[in-house]
Amino acid sequence: MSMLNKKTIEDIEVTGKRVLVRCDFNVPLKDGVITDENRLVGALPTIKYLMEKGAKVILCSHLGKPKGEPKPELSLAPVAKRLSEMLNKEVVFVADDNVVGENAKSAVENMKDGDVILLQNTRYRKEETKNEESFSKELASLAEIFVNDAFGTAHRAHCSTVGVTNFVETSVCGYLIQKELKFLGEAVETPARPFVAILGGAKVSDKINVINNLLEKVDTLIIGGGMAYTFLKAQGYEIGTSLLEEDKMEYSKEMIEKAKAKGVKLLLPVDHVTGEKFDKDTTPVVTEDENIKDGFMGLDIGPKTAKIYADAVKEAKTVVWNGPMGVFEFENFAKGTIEVAKAMAESDATTVIGGGDSAAAVNQLGFGDKMTHISTGGGASLEFLEGKELPGIVALNDK
Ligand code: AMP
Repeated sequence: MSMLNKKTIEDIEVTGKRVLVRCDFNVPLKDGVITDENRLVGALPTIKYLMEKGAKVILCSHLGKPKGEPKPELSLAPVAKRLSEMLNKEVVFVADDNVVGENAKSAVENMKDGDVILLQNTRYRKEETKNEESFSKELASLAEIFVNDAFGTAHRAHCSTVGVTNFVETSVCGYLIQKELKFLGEAVETPARPFVAILGGAKVSDKINVINNLLEKVDTLIIGGGMAYTFLKAQGYEIGTSLLEEDKMEYSKEMIEKAKAKGVKLLLPVDHVTGEKFDKDTTPVVTEDENIKDGFMGLDIGPKTAKIYADAVKEAKTVVWNGPMGVFEFENFAKGTIEVAKAMAESDATTVIGGGDSAAAVNQLGFGDKMTHISTGGGASLEFLEGKELPGIVALNDK
């Protein structure tokens, strides 16, 4: 795939150059305080490398959805402050409501080699999410080199991820994107086998293309979570009041047929933990088999299923996981997700977590450092698993 052959910061000369780095500083904020620093930590290797090489490092990112206008509560100022502490060097924050206004230009002019500045939230500008040429050119005017290290927005063609690459001399990826491409790319394109993919989460409709694409690649496809019920119903089982997407039943049947034709083992739940209500206090009732009684909904995979899924993980050499096995936010219905996470944590296989809810679940459960790779981009890793090309990566220079 063309996405796997992109130049990195190590392939180019950066000393003394002005380097614009698109980071993913879209961090959760509460009363101006950053409540989860993972994304800042993830950005440090690229920033440190460029500082040490004596580049002039100009950082930019979006934060939340200011919808094209300045919103003080979505200013990146707290990020600059925290980054300064983490890097042990002042990261100058450029409070410029135009992002690339007079303040930004003079801040860049005053930079010395090894200095770091952070521009204001790129989504203060309405052109950003439309990938309009004017703002792309303004961003590019600040630097000779563009580095994309924001995997979380690589699936979006915006000024600061795609447009800017048309107006700088060189565009390469940073360490974070390089790492994402290595682990996601190798898992999907050249996996050690058996290759097992585990898909869960709420809806079939969110994962249609992922299922279809992964059936071309995996040895075993495991389905859990809310989306499993549409598959079960399509095979004639009783599913009570569980999540059902009737318009996806036909598709589910096709996928079951496709799995057979490809010789892929497709695993569906053989029992469930059910409840009468979608409520954390509803009494958990384990079913005997695939069928769910009237008035009950499946909220987690059952113990027999969890064992089958964990065994499949144990036999695997590569495991990719996206989406929880049940409503893991409710303690009584988290066990299936925990068992799968545990099996992955204990396995010697290459284990890749595809961002979003499953990444949050794995981190919450304390298994984070036991996985080979946890993707930092929910939407981006999903599109990657769909086999799509990510515009923010395609736009970078090839090796
Ligand atoms: P996704 O964003 O598609 O990965 O979906 C994650 C969400 O799916 C989580 O918030 C889960 O609570 C929810 N979910 C998982 N299993 C079920 C289920 N059996 N019924 C309803 N929601 C579920």
